[in-house]
Amino acid sequence: MKQSPGYVPGEQLDGASIIKLNTNENPYPPAPEIADVLQGFDAARLRVYPAPNAAQFRTIASDLHNVPADQVIATNGGDELLRLAIATFVEPGASIGLCTPTYSLYEVLAWLHGASTVDAPLNDDWTLNADTVSIWQNAGARLGFVVNPQAPSGHLIPTSELSAIATAFDGVLVIDEAYVDFVDPSLHYDAVTLCREHDNILLLRTLSKGYSLAGLRFGYGLGSSAVVTPMQTKTKDSYNTDAIAQALACAALGAQDYASDTWARVRRDRDQLAKRLTTLGFACEPSETNFLLVRAPERASAKELYECLRQNNILVRYFDAPRLSDCLRITIGTEAQNDELIRALETLLSG
Ligand SMILES: *Cc1c(COP(=O)(O)O)cnc(C)c1O
Repeated sequence: MKQSPGYVPGEQLDGASIIKLNTNENPYPPAPEIADVLQGFDAARLRVYPAPNAAQFRTIASDLHNVPADQVIATNGGDELLRLAIATFVEPGASIGLCTPTYSLYEVLAWLHGASTVDAPLNDDWTLNADTVSIWQNAGARLGFVVNPQAPSGHLIPTSELSAIATAFDGVLVIDEAYVDFVDPSLHYDAVTLCREHDNILLLRTLSKGYSLAGLRFGYGLGSSAVVTPMQTKTKDSYNTDAIAQALACAALGAQDYASDTWARVRRDRDQLAKRLTTLGFACEPSETNFLLVRAPERASAKELYECLRQNNILVRYFDAPRLSDCLRITIGTEAQNDELIRALETLLSG
């Protein structure tokens, strides 16, 4: 088999005593409606194939975002949308534009497609490189990925900058909004408006983070018909999302009040946790996501902290990568989990 770099997901250890702050799951359970729909699901419906394009889900998403239903595509997790975007818009051998460091799956998917990647390195303060578009264009890229709010920094890029990229870029710009649900509403961030203004933008949404449904594998894309229709009709598998997932995904989008209540709690606890980590000597990047990227205090090594926390059954994410090797990425947990994390760090740092 050809050698792939492979994506290394965050660990999934079993055990009730594990505090999992490493893969950016929502710490709160899915909406109660999800359990109701699951229990009421008629197994006889599984005899026939599911709706090929998840029509009912697309109608609900179309109402929620105020875009026509044919500008919504439902996918098996956001990750499938990334794969579809590459399969649809990138010739094998061609290049894909990234803003690095970023979500490492992009590079893996590019490799699997026989494509290369071209990096527009983020500035030291994690803002976008002013030459992003020219770096991408010079390499012949026709597809580019930006995560917003960003991973792993947590920063929010203003829509004006994304709009400028979309205008200048002679290709499809994917704005990966996996964490958008956690953005403070008072910032009035709204990239859906950008899809109406630019026919080369594809927005990625997922139910994994905001809707507490990482185990369901459901995501969707929003964009102009020019971007969405070729993926919908040419590249995706006919039955890419199953009947149970479609039913639960509809229920999840329907339970907006419940989900947005979890987002508000995460935002509140994010600010609390950032304050307490700062007191312990960590430098916290401002975050509009459900995680914090923190630089370890001078006297400590991020890698050792990661390992010691792990021995205490607390999982956080450590990236042995340029610019990140002195940092930890910590998912916002429940209040009790955050307390445990702080207690463990206090002990480790005083030792
Ligand atoms: C979580 C995540 C996704 C999508 O995840 P799925 O679980 O496949 O929906 C996409 N991009 C980024 C940056 C993510 O963190």
